[in-house]
Amino acid sequence: MTLKSSPCQDKCNWGPTDEVYEDKPLFACGSCGSQWVRTESWTPKQLDGSVPPGVKEEVIIARPWAAFSFGND
Ligand SMILES: [Zn+2]
Repeated sequence: MTLKSSPCQDKCNWGPTDEVYEDKPLFACGSCGSQWVRTESWTPKQLDGSVPPGVKEEVIIARPWAAFSFGND
């Protein structure tokens, strides 16, 4: 299995799925079908530019040093 990645970063609507990929929770974009887990080097963004719920926690697990870049919300 390979994660899907589609170029719809402008309209993305991310959320968790029931699936796991390599023992990590799998997230998917309801708009373009892209898939993401925390070992990916990029971070999903919603249409409004925010980091989707759940994704932030996953990124903090994988890249704690990146947490500050999310700011406070
Ligand atoms: Zn998308």
